[in-house]
Amino acid sequence: MAESYKNYIGGEWVDARSGGTFVSTSPADPSDVLGEFPRSGPEDVNAAVEAADRAFQEWSRTPAPKRGEVLYRVAELIQERKEELARIMTREMGKVLNEARGDVQEAIDMGYYMAGEGRRLLGYTTPSELPLKACFAIRRPIGRIGLITPWNFPIAVPSWKIFPALIGGNTIVWKPAEDSPRTAYEFVRIFEEAGLPPGALNVVFGYGEEAGRPLVEHPKIDMISFTGSTEVGREVYTRAAQKLIRVHLEMGGKNPIIVMDDADLDLAVDAIVWSAFGTTGQRCTACSRLIVHEPVYEKLIEQLVADTEALRLGNGLEPSVQVGPVVNESQLRKIETYVEIGKNEGAKLLLGGERATEGDLAKGYFYKPTIFVDVTPEMRIFREEIFGPVLSVVKARDYDEAIRLANDTTYGLSSSIFTRNVNLAMRAIEDLEAGITYINHGTIGAEIHLPFGGVKDTGNGGREAGLAAIDEYTEWKSVYIDYSGRLQKAQGIE
Ligand code: NAD
Repeated sequence: MAESYKNYIGGEWVDARSGGTFVSTSPADPSDVLGEFPRSGPEDVNAAVEAADRAFQEWSRTPAPKRGEVLYRVAELIQERKEELARIMTREMGKVLNEARGDVQEAIDMGYYMAGEGRRLLGYTTPSELPLKACFAIRRPIGRIGLITPWNFPIAVPSWKIFPALIGGNTIVWKPAEDSPRTAYEFVRIFEEAGLPPGALNVVFGYGEEAGRPLVEHPKIDMISFTGSTEVGREVYTRAAQKLIRVHLEMGGKNPIIVMDDADLDLAVDAIVWSAFGTTGQRCTACSRLIVHEPVYEKLIEQLVADTEALRLGNGLEPSVQVGPVVNESQLRKIETYVEIGKNEGAKLLLGGERATEGDLAKGYFYKPTIFVDVTPEMRIFREEIFGPVLSVVKARDYDEAIRLANDTTYGLSSSIFTRNVNLAMRAIEDLEAGITYINHGTIGAEIHLPFGGVKDTGNGGREAGLAAIDEYTEWKSVYIDYSGRLQKAQGIE
């Protein structure tokens, strides 16, 4: 019997009203069950939003430095439980333990960072155009915020949203991904233990259509912050638009690495392998398109294939494993479908292209790291997000063609160029259409104190993390204080 877990609403642990449940299992071995979770619906979402609404009065009026003290305590507790959380994450969604530790570390960093913001939350003062009048702008909470998150960063991504939303004085209803509920449960328990007031953070487990959609549509939700696929994000945006609420969207990517002929090839290969096959290619910032300057093409591909072939697949809990499983059966099938599409479109399969089924791998959802060459920009494997360990390689004649290829996508999250030519590196920073550009580093590895997000279909203009997150989760209020004792009119009106 699987251990059963509950929703967290108004400081109480409660079952779904319907009594329905779903089970979370390990992608490395689906017989390993992580728990049974409430399959929530609109009534549960409504109870959670009502709880967030009740808690808002108290939490929004708690001085921000005091809110920061709670967040600081949360960060300390995450730090103490880092290993335990990382192990649960690896079991539940498959990323290798070292990467799971990094995922938890992002939450620790974000917790401390946002706790400090409690003593800043800076507004500004500015002179008035009139005498004897003061002007300043302050930040106010937005209200009750709905968070919808994916499974691939089951603690890091929620932490990018929860910490800034709470420090801004908002209350939250969170709908975590259905593939990582246990990790979400462990994370939320820490907020409870740290003394966050009941109702400030509520969690409803369940599926997107059943629990996510009613959250987006709920009349008392003032903002939605969503991370996930562009397809679902578009739907969330459209529905939320009916209510005219703020919507923050972080969505898919098809991130390119460019390697120029003067690059350090050893470094480039290390970075490509890490960016394309780290987290089994299931990062929004994963490199899925490699653009290689012709003069170094043969040499780079040879080295890349050798290093990729040497990667060790397996259960991420084993220390020597470098690539874990993909998250579930349907993701495995999606990758298989794209590999068939790639072959049918005429791309040449150099490596991988099949499930890995040796020994214990047969139990789980393992796919061999896959490299396609002779890819052209019209091919679907070059254009669509596969979200698995599949890399498409194209050749470029020169820098200009490389940039054209890199930008030939509807996405715009991360990007990278390897070159020792400072002029080209500086030009690439301007030329690459993406929210993030790395020079001589792969497409993954964001740090929490810089803005994170993408252009084009990756986002809708907002940014997570860094100071940008404070703008996302607060509302500006402008204040005018006239101490002249007479009616002064702005704009020179007599
Ligand atoms: P997904 O879009 O399938 O699901 C994301 C979340 O939305 C889940 O919690 C899901 O239950 C919920 N959802 C599904 N349908 C919904 C609906 N109709 N209404 C409301 N909520 C709904 O994405 P996923 O498979 O969990 O994650 C992978 C995707 O996330 C990839 O596209 C990846 O690029 C993206 N991602 C983006 C970033 C970023 O910061 N840009 C970070 C991580 C992942």
